[in-house]
Amino acid sequence: MELLERPQGTEDILPASSAEWIALEDFLRRTALCFGFREIRVPTFEKTELFSRGVGETTDVVQKEMYTVSSSGTHTFTLRPEGTAGTIRAVLQNGLLNEALPQRVYYILSCFRHENTQKGRLREFHQFGVEMAGSPNPSADAEVISLAKQIIDDIGVKNVELRINSIGCPECRKKYQEALKAYFQPHHDTLCPDCKSRLERNPMRLLDCKNEKCHQIGKGAPEILDYLCDDCSQHFEKLKRNLGLLGIVYTIDPRIVRGLDYYTKTVFEFVTTHYNEKEKKQETLTVCGGGRYDGLIEQLGGQPTPALGFGMGLERMLMTLHQQGVTLAEPSKCDIYFVPMGEKAEEKALQLTASLRKDGIFALTDVVGRGLRAQMKYADKIGARFTMVIGDNELESGEAVLKNMQTGEKITMKLDETLPERFADIEIADRLTKE
Ligand code: ATP
Ligand code: MG
Repeated sequence: MELLERPQGTEDILPASSAEWIALEDFLRRTALCFGFREIRVPTFEKTELFSRGVGETTDVVQKEMYTVSSSGTHTFTLRPEGTAGTIRAVLQNGLLNEALPQRVYYILSCFRHENTQKGRLREFHQFGVEMAGSPNPSADAEVISLAKQIIDDIGVKNVELRINSIGCPECRKKYQEALKAYFQPHHDTLCPDCKSRLERNPMRLLDCKNEKCHQIGKGAPEILDYLCDDCSQHFEKLKRNLGLLGIVYTIDPRIVRGLDYYTKTVFEFVTTHYNEKEKKQETLTVCGGGRYDGLIEQLGGQPTPALGFGMGLERMLMTLHQQGVTLAEPSKCDIYFVPMGEKAEEKALQLTASLRKDGIFALTDVVGRGLRAQMKYADKIGARFTMVIGDNELESGEAVLKNMQTGEKITMKLDETLPERFADIEIADRLTKE
């Protein structure tokens, strides 16, 4: 039934895989904090104007990919296609730049883009991102890049390449844009329709066109690094030196551009490469992209403040991990399932379950009124690690048998207030022997 089909390009994160998301998010939060970044949470939608200004009128995101709704006929709002614009809006509106600078914030949020869906390209996806505001210095760039690098390494993603570039400042770009126009002009008729209009409005964006023909033509294009002014060039040299000191390996890729007036100097991407068995070709996917945008805060109405950040696609991170055979976390399993036989036993199981839960143990008992066999079947289906049957005999003796469902091992235990603590010891020991 169509009603039961989720919208194209969206995903359900089911209980079986939510443990991985939780582990990933925990890890991101802990790592960000080590670098001094604290969490910010911003609205899911903002005024449309914020994104057209903050992301840029000439970008694909603003021109084709935004989900915009009009509300009460007068205002238009857009579901956030990325995290930076809303975050900077919140930082400015709440005066966070009046606090000690640099200000460091991170976010974990969903983004919405009306894209052609395919593997790794969704219409609702999740990003972890950071923004640092208040430092023009290349050591800030190195710090932000090293945070992304530490996340990627420690989480265990392999074959990720860091590519960096500098796109200079509006000054260096003037000459470069002219050189690009002159280069692409003779190829005008071969360019895709998007690039034909980019040639006039924003020629740097031709360099990251995904159309194969434009891509080929772009290969011979002039490179921005040859057009950098002294200041931008020194900035880039210092960044490379700092990355070297941190032992971070990178390649320089003159084709990475952001191509907007307020993006300046450093731009970077972390790219994974893997072999697509079906199509028999090598594929690359950007898992993280970022850079410096010294003009953005002013563009959005704040005092001129240098800033930079990155956005990391979480579905792409998990997808890459899975392709490489890594699972971040297994779904949680019930630690102990009580199997009561009869009304009195049910009451005892109710109390025991409650006392174990208070000690943080994942404990369940029957809430359906099933018989012994059906309960054991249920315990088995949900993968309960231990079970304990309680009937009249157990109530009388005040003792019951704890069964390890995997090894079959049985231990007799007292059904008194010491049970939670003794069970916790057994449960931990069992976990340790498995590891
Ligand atoms: P791409 O070139 O792949 O379209 P982008 O330049 O549009 O990426 P950014 O706006 O820089 O991407 O977003 C940061 C990160 O978010 C990307 O590097 C990617 O990991 C992820 N991302 C972007 N768009 C999507 C999407 N539609 N589905 C899933 N992840 C995405
Ligand atoms: Mg895109």
